[in-house]
Amino acid sequence: MKLSLVVPCYNEAENVANFQDAVITAFSGCGYDYEIVYIDDGSRDATLHNLKKLHAEQKCPVKVVSFSRNFGKEAGLYAGLEHASGEYISLIDADLQQRPEIVRDMVRILDENPDCDIVAAYQDRRGEGKVLSFFKKGFYKIINWLSNVKFHADASDFRTFRRSVAESILQLAEYHRFSKGIFSWVGFNTHYIPYTACPRAAGTTKWNFRKLTNYAIDGIIGFSTRPLHLSTYLSGITAFAAVVYLIVVVCQKLMDGIAIPGYATIIVLILLLGSMQLFCIGIIGEYVGRTFEQTKQRPIYLAKEVLTYEDA
Ligand code: UDP
Ligand code: MG
Repeated sequence: MKLSLVVPCYNEAENVANFQDAVITAFSGCGYDYEIVYIDDGSRDATLHNLKKLHAEQKCPVKVVSFSRNFGKEAGLYAGLEHASGEYISLIDADLQQRPEIVRDMVRILDENPDCDIVAAYQDRRGEGKVLSFFKKGFYKIINWLSNVKFHADASDFRTFRRSVAESILQLAEYHRFSKGIFSWVGFNTHYIPYTACPRAAGTTKWNFRKLTNYAIDGIIGFSTRPLHLSTYLSGITAFAAVVYLIVVVCQKLMDGIAIPGYATIIVLILLLGSMQLFCIGIIGEYVGRTFEQTKQRPIYLAKEVLTYEDA
């Protein structure tokens, strides 16, 4: 098998059949074989039903992995990599925002450049609002500053890569997965190509501001320990300020001979230092929580059903 398309689906009932038709059209006459690995991420609509229909028809080779509940897109991608048998593997969404024609170009680039391991698409024009794009830019500034691995701001997980890359990614069995970080971390030669995301074919996006914020925190905590040093830096700053203030107080006492009444100062300092301490404990808590979850060694996903070619 030359190519596996890994497609995570969560409530994409209206899209899966159209997606498959678009793939078949895009790859007609390509001269190599390909399969589609659908992951039903615990959808609550007719997605699984429709996927089973596509699997029964086998218009092109189709595998379906269905999760016991919603585990998130990252878990879906992981399961897809485990079940993909292609020499090349492509990650693509089911909503046709990312055109399958681009995957064909990616395969061509990999064929023509033996040195290139990953072809990743980045959005040249973002179709999202100003506020969201402001926060996303801010997030990439922060994470690139904090982390040792580098993040390409507009790159998505829409990419095609060689089997060796997939095997490397599967070795990273972390529970809180952040694929952009995982891709940077595993390395390999990456070639970036621009693409324009189309509007969603049907249904709605699964992301909202809260989910994106949590995902961003996962990214930062998962790929940097620098926030843990914050309390060390802060303690240096406050110790320095305390010494300066001590000198000021002693000088005032010696010159004027009076102790300064400092009620407001004390209250402000208590509040300021208290909140700084809580903030630092919060950061440590984020790391401890993730360590706790990882030590339980729970699986990244649970599949209730896996439909391969033999089942069709
Ligand atoms: N998705 C998933 N599990 C989830 C959320 C999303 O498998 O919990 C899939 C979804 O079905 C789609 C892809 O991930 O194929 C991207 O999701 P979406 O289109 O909502 O994200 P956006 O394109 O808006 O960033
Ligand atoms: Mg989408």
